[in-house]
Amino acid sequence: MTPVIALVGRPNVGKSTLFNRLTRSRDALVADFPGLTRDRKYGNGMLGDKVYTVIDTGGISGDEEGIDAAMAEQSLAAIDEADIVLFMVDARAGLIAADQAIANHLRVNQKKTWLVVNKTDGLEEHSAMGDFWSLGLGDPWPIAAAHGRNVSTLIDAVLAPF
Ligand code: GDP
Ligand code: MG
Repeated sequence: MTPVIALVGRPNVGKSTLFNRLTRSRDALVADFPGLTRDRKYGNGMLGDKVYTVIDTGGISGDEEGIDAAMAEQSLAAIDEADIVLFMVDARAGLIAADQAIANHLRVNQKKTWLVVNKTDGLEEHSAMGDFWSLGLGDPWPIAAAHGRNVSTLIDAVLAPF
């Protein structure tokens, strides 16, 4: 069985950037404005001899209406399909209320969830983890999807049980 990894989190935290890195594709549209990925997007990747599937999503904002609601629905569907959920937050934005709202949903979900703190490039790793501990999702994992910092270490750990 190929493990399925869902990337969820607010728009603009770097989900598509990580998707591209994990699948080595330029398919997921990365932009400087949030909310571009409205449907789920699937790709495959490989680390060592392990193959995995990644699902990119448009993101959850925490208080959904209109098109945002459709994106949230895609995120929930991706979580259902996944074996592993990578919940991404933004080290530069810090912890915001919407992250807390999403974390509350993920905590009641039975899927194995990893808290991934992106955009740590140029930041001191430990202080960048700051308030994210308080989300109650275990140890935050610092990465920089755009530069690859800690990405294979994370995926190696994520795939270890598979
Ligand atoms: P998504 O909406 O969650 O899919 O986020 P995107 O992948 O589209 O990225 C949103 C913005 O964050 C883009 O401008 C990316 O270049 C930027 N970004 C993504 N990862 C990193 C990172 O590791 N470091 C920094 N500094 N910027 C990043
Ligand atoms: Mg995206």
